[in-house]
Amino acid sequence: MESRKPLIGLTLEQLRHLVADEGLPRFAAGQIAKWLYDKRVTDIAEMTDLSKTARARLAEKYTVGREAPKAEARSTDGTVKYLFEGAGGRDVEAVYIPDRDRATLCVSSQAGCKMNCRFCMTGRQGFHGNLTTAGIINQILSIPDSDKLTNIVFMGMGEPTDNLDAVLDAIEILTAPWGLAWSPKRITVSTIGRLKEMKRILDFTRVHLAVSVHSPYSAQRAELMPVERAYPVREIFEMLRGYDFAHQRRLSVEYIIWRGVNDRLADADALAKLIKGTSARVNLIRFHKIPGSELSPTSQAAMEAFRDRLNELGVTATIRASRGEDIAAACGMLAGKNNPDKKEQDTI
Ligand code: SF4
Repeated sequence: MESRKPLIGLTLEQLRHLVADEGLPRFAAGQIAKWLYDKRVTDIAEMTDLSKTARARLAEKYTVGREAPKAEARSTDGTVKYLFEGAGGRDVEAVYIPDRDRATLCVSSQAGCKMNCRFCMTGRQGFHGNLTTAGIINQILSIPDSDKLTNIVFMGMGEPTDNLDAVLDAIEILTAPWGLAWSPKRITVSTIGRLKEMKRILDFTRVHLAVSVHSPYSAQRAELMPVERAYPVREIFEMLRGYDFAHQRRLSVEYIIWRGVNDRLADADALAKLIKGTSARVNLIRFHKIPGSELSPTSQAAMEAFRDRLNELGVTATIRASRGEDIAAACGMLAGKNNPDKKEQDTI
């Protein structure tokens, strides 16, 4: 087993500490960052503007840390699901979704999840560990189509705000000039709405935010998502009204529609009222049935009527296209086939 530590996932500041500890010149931190995130080498030996001695010293304790996916499944629509080593002996997935001139990667931030949402197989399997920043960045750098990526969404396995330090470091690496130098407009973090952590994302980054709402009513949302008891959705939107989402950054509301649960026009009215004053757009998400759950997807007609009602009320609402259904690969559908005690696919 590899005992050396990965270099990917380290910020410039962390690399500066590392080179100081190793007795290397301060400027070597910038050189290493360039090799890791711009030139994307896979071996310290390739960092040819570092002296041979420096490379040898680094290689004693560190590796680049790039790990290829363990497995992949390809959909007929071009979506590809990649399996990576996760945490606590559990694998996680990253889902590559090409769409005309865009190519999005849905990344995981945790193996399993503590949040226990009723409609989610990831929640059912419990929590097995946080991914390191290296584990997050590796998903982005090590898929074969990495160069084609235009967008990253933190919507895979786990709740990003529950592993926020690693997620914030990953965002810094993605957006810093010494890192991948992406615009934050290409990145979206999806959260169930833990207030303090959401504020950190809003105050310290410029990435887009997606909030999983799924019900405009507190009692019903608490049934579906226990987190509502700690962070009521009304308070989430009160806080969000204090931020500007009309310029530069986007706020989206994720709303899975279930038959007979939250698919009435009155529910659309309540949702519009809840998010009023935030400029949020609503993504309506088709539900994929999971074993042992009484929740079921609503009809296409009900989804369209719900969307039209929101649009009439001045809320931009769209129905998210389902992708990769033949490989159960839409964001949030995280396979557990390689995980020891899990036989079904996950879904949100
Ligand atoms: S929906 Fe998201 S937050 Fe809820 S249990 Fe699943 S992964 Fe966790």
